[in-house]
Amino acid sequence: MALPIAHAAAGYLVHRAVRRVPDRDRSPAGAWRRAAVFMVIGNLPDFDFLIGFACGRPGLIHRGVSHTILAAAAFGVLAGIVARRRGGEAVMPTALAGAAAYASHLLLDWLTSDARPPEGAQFLWPFSDAYYIAPVALFREIRIDGLTREGFVGSVLGWPTVLVLAREAVLVLGAVALWRAAEAAYARRALAALRPRAGSEDAA
Ligand SMILES: [Zn+2]
Repeated sequence: MALPIAHAAAGYLVHRAVRRVPDRDRSPAGAWRRAAVFMVIGNLPDFDFLIGFACGRPGLIHRGVSHTILAAAAFGVLAGIVARRRGGEAVMPTALAGAAAYASHLLLDWLTSDARPPEGAQFLWPFSDAYYIAPVALFREIRIDGLTREGFVGSVLGWPTVLVLAREAVLVLGAVALWRAAEAAYARRALAALRPRAGSEDAA
């Protein structure tokens, strides 16, 4: 599995990509709240660990139905229903944004190495039972002990996890910085296109 920082960054990038979807609260504080919600959604599929943890075996249902496009679509429908009830939000765009933020988790897990067979997960279930994993891994796996609560906590807090986390932080912070730089360049170009060209009025 990729770690929460990478999934949060992916959720943040989806938030930036869909930030023009109408929302009730367009204030700066509202934008940060919305970004935080997207970062949580990016991590949501791994909350399946909590159910397993409560049952005494953290890995019990990990990477099961929570890591499928069916779950992403169901979450999108749920986001649309919530938007409809709240009012003042565009229902379909909100549903699609929610599904995209959820699906960003599946994309990152697909890009993460997995040494334990079967490698990857059944991301396309129920349309396919096959396990999928990217031919080239962008993120390194951390070995989570899903058999016991003690083993789980020990593997999450261990030094190997810290090292993977550090590498991941560099990768995702670089991706976010690139995205923001591209946004700024696009905004500058759009602004320049709106300005009248120097001397154009004299020529007219
Ligand atoms: Zn996951």
